[in-house]
Amino acid sequence: MTEPLQSTSGSSTMGPSPSSGFVEKAPLERYVPPAKPSLVGLSRAQLTQALATVGVPAAQRKMRAQQIWHWLYVRGARDFAEMTSVSKELRTALAAQFTLARPEVVAEQISADGTRKWLLRLGDGRSGERPHEVECVYIPEADRGTLCLSSQVGCTLTCSFCHTGTQRLVRNLTPGEIVGQILVARDRLDDWLGAARPAGESAATSSAAGQPMRHGGQRLVSNIVMMGMGEPLYNFEAVRDALLIAADGEGIAISKRRITLSTSGVVPNIARAGAEIGCMLAVSLHAVRDELRNELVPLNRKYPIGELLDACRNYPGLSNARRITFEYVMLKDVNDSLVEAKALVKLLAGIPAKINLIPFNPWPGTKYECSDWEQIEKFSEIIFNAGYASPVRTPRGRDILAACGQLKSASEKLSARERLALRAMAMTD
Ligand code: SAH
Ligand code: SF4
Repeated sequence: MTEPLQSTSGSSTMGPSPSSGFVEKAPLERYVPPAKPSLVGLSRAQLTQALATVGVPAAQRKMRAQQIWHWLYVRGARDFAEMTSVSKELRTALAAQFTLARPEVVAEQISADGTRKWLLRLGDGRSGERPHEVECVYIPEADRGTLCLSSQVGCTLTCSFCHTGTQRLVRNLTPGEIVGQILVARDRLDDWLGAARPAGESAATSSAAGQPMRHGGQRLVSNIVMMGMGEPLYNFEAVRDALLIAADGEGIAISKRRITLSTSGVVPNIARAGAEIGCMLAVSLHAVRDELRNELVPLNRKYPIGELLDACRNYPGLSNARRITFEYVMLKDVNDSLVEAKALVKLLAGIPAKINLIPFNPWPGTKYECSDWEQIEKFSEIIFNAGYASPVRTPRGRDILAACGQLKSASEKLSARERLALRAMAMTD
C-alpha cells in the first residue's frame, strides 16, 4: 500500500503561532506506520478499502468488512485464524498485509481498590529508537467500569499542577492506538462477548483469583473517559475517529452518553467535538479568574475563561439531562477559598453543569498541596446549596500512581526515592 491507512493529525491545530509559544511545547513527533499496519482503528470505509487492496471483489466488500468489524470489536479476535466465518483464503491474504495488533502490555498493576493500570508500548515504524509508552487505567465501581484512555504520549500543554504536563516527549496517538487501549482492557479483563466468567455481585467485586466480576449481564468496561495522558482536542481527528468506533452499535457499542471527553479548554475544537463526536464533555476549569487560570492552565492565555464558557453554552445537545462536567482541582490556599466557591457558582449560572471537585493528587517535585478535607467540604457545601450535586471525586489507584494527572509513561522513569515519597503520600490520605 502506498498510502498509510492511519495518520496522526495535529500539526494543523498544533502549529506554533507567535502567541502560542508560551503555552505549548515543541512540535509533535510524527507517527511512522509500521510496514504491516493493523486493521484496528480503521473506519468502516478504510476497512473496505483495505479489503480492496487484497483483491476482495467490490460486491463483497461491505459484507466482509461487516464480518471483520464483528470479529474485531464484538469478539475481540487477536488472530485472523479466529475469524471462522471468513474464508481461509481471505484470512491468509489479509494476514500477509495486515495485523490485528494493539498496544502491547508491558506492565499491569492492580491497586488495593481494584483500579488497574496498564503500561502500554506503542508499535510504530521507527527503527532503532525506544518505543513510546502510554498508560491506560480501569476503574471498577459498583454500577459501572470506567476506562480512562490516553490520547497523546505526554502532553503539549503545561498545566502547573499536572504531572503529565512535565513530560517532554510528545506524540499524538493514532485511532488504532486509542481504540487499541479498549481492546487491551477487554483482553485483560476477559470482557469480550461470550467470555465465560461467573456473574458477580458487582463490577467492583473481586473473585478469589483477583479478577473483577461483572454485574449481571453488564460488561466490565461500560464507560470511557478521555482523561489519561494528553489533551484530546489537540489530537482531534484521531480521538474523533476512535470514539466513533467505540460508540458503533455493531462493535464496541459504548453509548455516546457513556463517553466523556475532558479538555483543558481548546475552544475552537469544543464545537467540533459536539458536532462530530457527540460525546459528553468535561472541562478542566480549576479557577474562576483569568489571572489564576493563566498560571494553572496556561492555555487560558490563548482561550480565556469567557470564551471557554461561551463555547460550553453553545455545546450541542446540552440539557439538564446532558450536562457539562466542570472539573475543579482542589489546591490548598490557591483556588480553594469560599469566595471562589461562590464565584464558581455565579460563573456557571445558566449552563447545565455538574461540578467535580478533584482532590489534588500530589507528585514528587510539585509545589502544590491538596486542600484540607474540611475546606473541601465547606467548598462543596456552597456548591451543593446552589443546587449542584457536588461529588468530590474519590482518588482511585493512588498506590499505583494511576490517579488524575499522575499518568506519566515510564519513558521518564521515577527514581526509587520518588516512588517511595509517592507511596508515603498515598498512605497518609
Ligand atoms: N488534558 C485533559 C484530560 C486529561 S487530565 C484535561 O486537562 O482536561 C484529566 C483531569 O485531571 C483534568 O481535569 C486535569 O486537570 C486533572 N488533573 C491533572 N493533574 C492533576 C492532579 N495532580 N491532581 C488532580 N487532578 C489533576
Ligand atoms: Fe495536559 Fe490535561 Fe495535564 Fe494540562 S491537565 S498538562 S492539558 S494532561
